[in-house]
Amino acid sequence: MERDFDVIVIGSGAAGLAAAVSAADSGASVLVVEGETQVGGSSRLSGGHFYAAGTSVQEEAGVVGDNADAMFEHYMTLNQHLVDPAVVRRYCDLSAPTLEWVMGLGVKYPADQLYASGVGSTPRGHPPEGEGQEVINVLEGHRSHKGVDLVLDARVTSLITNDEGRVTGVRIGDDEATAGAVIMATGGFGNNPEMIEKYLPQAAATGDWGWYIGADGARGDGITLGESVGGVVDGHDRALLLATPGFSRDLEVALPSWIIMVNQYGRRFCDETGNYTVIAGLLDKQGGPVYAVFDEPTRAAAKRTPLFQAYWVNEVLEQKADDGRILRADSLAELAALAGIDAEGLEGTAQRYNNDVEAGEDTAFFKQGPLSPIRTAPFYAVEIRPAILCWTGTGLRINADTCVIDKAEKPIRGLYAAGETVGNLHGDVYVGGGGSYGPCLVFGKLAGENAAKYAQMLND
Ligand SMILES: Cc1cc2nc3c(=O)[nH]c(=O)nc-3n(C[C@H](O)[C@H](O)[C@H](O)COP(=O)(O)OP(=O)(O)OC[C@H]3O[C@@H](n4cnc5c(N)ncnc54)[C@H](O)[C@@H]3O)c2cc1C
Repeated sequence: MERDFDVIVIGSGAAGLAAAVSAADSGASVLVVEGETQVGGSSRLSGGHFYAAGTSVQEEAGVVGDNADAMFEHYMTLNQHLVDPAVVRRYCDLSAPTLEWVMGLGVKYPADQLYASGVGSTPRGHPPEGEGQEVINVLEGHRSHKGVDLVLDARVTSLITNDEGRVTGVRIGDDEATAGAVIMATGGFGNNPEMIEKYLPQAAATGDWGWYIGADGARGDGITLGESVGGVVDGHDRALLLATPGFSRDLEVALPSWIIMVNQYGRRFCDETGNYTVIAGLLDKQGGPVYAVFDEPTRAAAKRTPLFQAYWVNEVLEQKADDGRILRADSLAELAALAGIDAEGLEGTAQRYNNDVEAGEDTAFFKQGPLSPIRTAPFYAVEIRPAILCWTGTGLRINADTCVIDKAEKPIRGLYAAGETVGNLHGDVYVGGGGSYGPCLVFGKLAGENAAKYAQMLND
């Protein structure tokens, strides 16, 4: 049967462009369909870090003995095995070869930038020169050079299937394009409030504080399109969220060392400067509002720093207290009453913390960095919510070969998926910086190869 293309890729982020380039390299004729007016999706806004093990960059940096087995063990343990082992294993196995492939295309990952990007100590975070935009530039250059067609401003509205349920193309409004295989690389759903409500209760619970840092096109179309042909959604309530006092929509990843965070019992529950990959999950587990608490000398000393520009600055904090957005009181008991926190708990926590500050060691949570006592009125409490949404981890269920699978665990013929639209890779805990962009490239490349092979088989 005549088809317009061997492979159609929906979406032109890291996953989609990697898929397009690898499908073309596998001999397929390829069309990339992008709903926005420029390529790159959230990938172009991203740091573009790539979480990988056993790479030549690690070797150059003197990291010895890391490999896919160690990465797999860490990933599975971190998430208490509540992820799909076959899909995670494939990511781990292909992380190094895919990074080498991307480097071969022209992206540079300087060895001196390599870092331990999650809660593990092994440096697996590979930041690219020029961040995510440069990765997109390089992939887009190869797409264009290989003669892969691209249409912009063309949002796919439905999938075409034949009588046997095989996916045979896409519709963009009244237009149609047919193919041997379709790759869904439509990104996440950070810009879709209904899907956030449905699939991401922890983000929905942050109410109007919640905002998404990525691109407009992240509307969850992959989920809708995939479900329309029998695909199923996996990975409930999974995303990367960052903790914030929510005064504005500024992206600040960390919290300052000079606050303590307490729950409704007035108890601390973490090292406030802990890794951003775990803090939001800890907030969610407190079962009620969480407050950052500090005192007047600490507030007055809060200077703008490279890390803290928007929220944790003396005059901002003063203004927000004057506006009533931050609670202010002359005693901790009064502050606790205003915040609905157990007063005895808060006073006891502050006393223990002050003793630790005096002794120069946080004996409860081992927090490093400048510690400030909570001693001098007025005292302040500001609510913290996991309200900055970086990416979503709920999405289509795939097998390790990137085929979208149905509820009977069977591949939907002709339909592949890669990138943030996939739902059975991420667990409750983000593995670390590069843990989203890395698999976009890994599964994008793999989907391109497998979709090209499938289309070729139909042609034979
Ligand atoms: C600011 C920022 C920083 C980040 N930093 C990192 C990092 O350092 N490391 C890391 O691992 N992750 C990071 N992330 C997350 C990571 O970048 C993303 O998860 C990843 O880039 C998503 O890639 P993707 O190809 O799946 O989707 P995208 O890059 O979002 O691309 C999807 C594309 O599909 C298009 N599309 C959607 N629906 C349709 C449709 N119906 N028809 C046609 N086109 C459609 C969209 O317009 C979009 O262009 C960051 C994210 C952001 C926003």
